[in-house]
Amino acid sequence: MITVTPEQDLAAATQYVQSVYESVVKRNPHESEFHQAIKEILDSLVPVFAKHPKYMQHSILERIVEPERVVSFRVPWVDDAGKVQVNRGFRVQFNSAIGPYKGGLRFHPSVNASIIKFLGFEQIFKNSLTGQPIGGGKGGSDFDPKGKSDNEIMRFTQSFMTELFKYIGPDEDVPAGDIGVGGREIGYMFGQYRRIRGGHEAGVLTGKGVIFGGSLTRTEATGYGCVYFVNEMLKFKGLSFEGSTVVVSGSGNVAIYAIEKAHQLGAKVVACSDSGGYVYDANGINLATVKRLKEVERKRIREYVNEHPHAIYIEGFEGIWTIPCDIALPCATQNEINENAARILVANGVKAIGEGANMPSTLEAIEVFHDNHVLFGPAKAANAGGVAVSALEMAQNSMRLNWTFEEVDAKLHSIMKNIYQNAVLAAEEYGYSGNLVVGANIAGFTRVADAMIAQGVV
Ligand code: NDP
Repeated sequence: MITVTPEQDLAAATQYVQSVYESVVKRNPHESEFHQAIKEILDSLVPVFAKHPKYMQHSILERIVEPERVVSFRVPWVDDAGKVQVNRGFRVQFNSAIGPYKGGLRFHPSVNASIIKFLGFEQIFKNSLTGQPIGGGKGGSDFDPKGKSDNEIMRFTQSFMTELFKYIGPDEDVPAGDIGVGGREIGYMFGQYRRIRGGHEAGVLTGKGVIFGGSLTRTEATGYGCVYFVNEMLKFKGLSFEGSTVVVSGSGNVAIYAIEKAHQLGAKVVACSDSGGYVYDANGINLATVKRLKEVERKRIREYVNEHPHAIYIEGFEGIWTIPCDIALPCATQNEINENAARILVANGVKAIGEGANMPSTLEAIEVFHDNHVLFGPAKAANAGGVAVSALEMAQNSMRLNWTFEEVDAKLHSIMKNIYQNAVLAAEEYGYSGNLVVGANIAGFTRVADAMIAQGVV
């Protein structure tokens, strides 16, 4: 009898993962963000394939890297000057093995197929990690909401939904917000969907206004959830937010509520940013000012120093990571912490990183954090609170009832603790103790892969 050694299993699994990665690169040329997301996840799954060859036998990887459906469409709209503008819309329906496609819509000029595919792919595993019955999807447009009037935003979102409505529904695909898409945009899109469908299908979008089917705590969920997750990592090392110095990048939805929860837990957040630059306030960021500037007046973060003259504004958002801190929460966008920024953070004594944004650290930056034993909470675990509460919003819509803020917040807190525990246990089981990147990827993957096997080749 020929016996197969664990080394041979590992070699076969490594070869399998590498061949799938190469085929993804070949079949999706010029999509660097998508390749990066695939590489991060696939590399960490090698020990799973070595231990459970059934996933290779069922060609799970070949299937999971291919979206179930990709839609790209024209979005024509008329600006305030009466000129016709044309943008491109996307929806990537990546995987529905454990539930309807679920994932946000991003409106930003950088949006393209690669970015939506990287986000949609990550979303499969993140959604699985929440333990909720939701599949993975993502969408958006290269539309730039900056500087647009309310009427222009409404006309654009109505045109966007006039095409998107064909592909979504409470049991098919349930979009939500992301960069450039907040409560205002979701409201306009829900209105247009309701008008076209001729019925009030509340569960078709999440992040809705509370008066028409939204969930309390959804606005706060991603930022709060990220801080809850980091708090679990800190507790494990006998540390806490109390008395610590925190830097948060961004000043959008995720950043604002990460700052709020960090303050509530006794930390001092000394900096935040937007794509123009960052503010440093040694007294601690005044959140009321940031909320008004960003949520109400939709102004730039540099305006902060007009009201707080002791604070300083520095042009260019990348420099924010040179500020010494105990905890860094990147909550703006992908690849905002590169290897150099990671080295500076480490040299300045950072103890923990919690990724509020999606893929904010490059693969090289993550390596620097791991090599230096910095606690590292990867996006798909640390920022899963938003989509988790979106799933709770869907549940409330189905039951036609509303939970209180405290009820939803308690459920969010418990989901974040579970995600942390599951990532820790999966990392330990496969010999990567303390590596939450590997743990989160494995815990998210196995649930979806088992569902795919159970459902046959579809
Ligand atoms: P918002 O649009 O509310 O805020 C984004 C913030 O990041 C703004 O301050 C924005 O500045 C800044 N930003 C955006 N793009 C860039 C860029 N290219 N370079 C520098 N700064 C940039 O988005 P969210 O807070 O909702 O999303 C932030 C991140 O969190 C994203 O990665 C998103 O995918 C992720 N996320 C969001 C969830 C949610 O529930 N909202 C859930 C899970 C993840 P400016 O205003 O100048 O553009």
